Amino acid sequence: MPQLEGKTGIIFGVANKRSIAWAIAQALAKEGMRLAFTYQGERLKESVEALSSTIPDSPLLECDVTKDDAVASVFNEVGERFGRLDTLVHSVAFAPKDDLEGDFSNTSREGFKTAHDISAYSLVALTKAALPHFEKSGGGSVVALTYLGAIRAVVGYNVMGVAKASLEASVRYLAADLGPKNVRVNAISAGPVNTLAARGISGFTTMLKHHADKAPLRRNVTLEEIGNAALFLCSDMSSGITGEVLYVDCGYNIVGL
Ligand code: NAP
Repeated sequence: MPQLEGKTGIIFGVANKRSIAWAIAQALAKEGMRLAFTYQGERLKESVEALSSTIPDSPLLECDVTKDDAVASVFNEVGERFGRLDTLVHSVAFAPKDDLEGDFSNTSREGFKTAHDISAYSLVALTKAALPHFEKSGGGSVVALTYLGAIRAVVGYNVMGVAKASLEASVRYLAADLGPKNVRVNAISAGPVNTLAARGISGFTTMLKHHADKAPLRRNVTLEEIGNAALFLCSDMSSGITGEVLYVDCGYNIVGL
């Protein structure tokens, strides 16, 4: 029997077929999880619909994660449709382009706020909204996506690195809070993958090549590998793990020189 049969999940952050969120959705759906998807605005609706429609019986809902009413309405709808929730995948990030380029010391106040609101605070808001539905399942698993720039100064990652540090700290605080309710909260720190969001990072192609040259496995991570790691974190196979950042980066983070 598929290991996630009877379980349900909601995925935030599918933009197109290259999105990490889509790779995760495919891994979860393959193991029988019933999924709901969200998209940010009309601009993305068509491309997300084309993907989500390939997974039977998966509701597609609009949600800008900076809007409290949109978040509340998505979880109401999911509660009505599913009656329970087992998994929340947070695969959302944004920083204004100007704040990703040049010197970090030039980061604007607005850019700093936006990056943190969309890329870090949203995890807290979504987890809070998911909680009553997790309780109906007797617990839940939350998975967020982060990057090494949270703990190292990575050229070109700038304010997004600071927002990812906040995201990783939020993972730990949420895990500490929600553990007694059997809700686990973890992050995957993925190596670079060529996605829409990644293209906003200046020098991204050089970054990809550098990772592949230096990583112990001498290559870049695949979307499928990230999907499988998320499957592990959403399944009972990881039932004793919470508050962790799991590196899925072909080992790049362990290398010094
Ligand atoms: P992606 O396909 O562009 O996904 C990013 C998603 O975030 C998009 O669906 C985007 O929608 C959504 N988003 C942005 N602002 C939003 C908002 N206000 N409300 C709702 N959704 C919003 O890129 P990705 O690389 O798969 O990124 C997924 C996650 O993985 C991010 O957290 C990213 O930082 C992380 N990550 C990526 C890499 C990498 O190398 N690609 C490495 C490590 C971690 P719009 O397109 O409408 O903005």
